[in-house]
Formats: sequence, structure tokens, C-alpha cells
Amino acid sequence: MLELRPSCENCNKPLPPHATDAMICSFECTFCSDCVSLLGNTCPNCGGGFVPRPIRPVTNWKGDNYLGHDPASTTVKFRPVDWEAHQHLLLRLQGIPPEQR
Ligand SMILES: [Zn+2]
Ligand SMILES: [Zn+2]
Repeated sequence: MLELRPSCENCNKPLPPHATDAMICSFECTFCSDCVSLLGNTCPNCGGGFVPRPIRPVTNWKGDNYLGHDPASTTVKFRPVDWEAHQHLLLRLQGIPPEQR
């Protein structure tokens, strides 16, 4: 199940489950959309692209599949980006869209 992390890994901005500016890579690395722009839509941990994080319903519409049953994570992952290393990664990925990485 998708881990709904509580904040942006780079700037620590709170990203509650209803945040519409939370972005994730395929490994669930979680960043705010501002940081994703700065990162050139490239995850500093895996080199993959980002997509908007889906919103988990707060209401039990069906079969206990909602936040009350499966709450968001409270474990903060705060690992500010090493921008120099990221520039090197961006150079290697230059011009390669996420679906071809
Ligand atoms: Zn951020
Ligand atoms: Zn990643």
C-alpha cells in the first residue's frame, strides 16, 4: 500500500494526505511540487520521474478503504537534496524523459 509520508523530503513542507501538491516517484520518495520543479522532475534518489500523489479518501465509502483504516505515515523522511550531486545526475539524464529512463 502507498505510504503517505507526512512532509517533503527536501524542504520539510507538511504534506498531509489531502495535499494536492504532494508528488511521488515509483519508490514513494515524496516531495512538494515546488521542489519537484527545482529537481527537474528527476528523483534525486532513483532518477525516475514524479507523479501527483493520489488522495486517500477520508470517508469510508467502500470496504474500509479509507484513511481511518489505513492512516498516513507519521515518520518524517528529511533528507535535503545534495544539489551538486543532483546536477551530475541531471547531466546524465539530459533529454531522457521519465518513460525512457
Ligand atoms: Zn519541498
Ligand atoms: Zn525515487
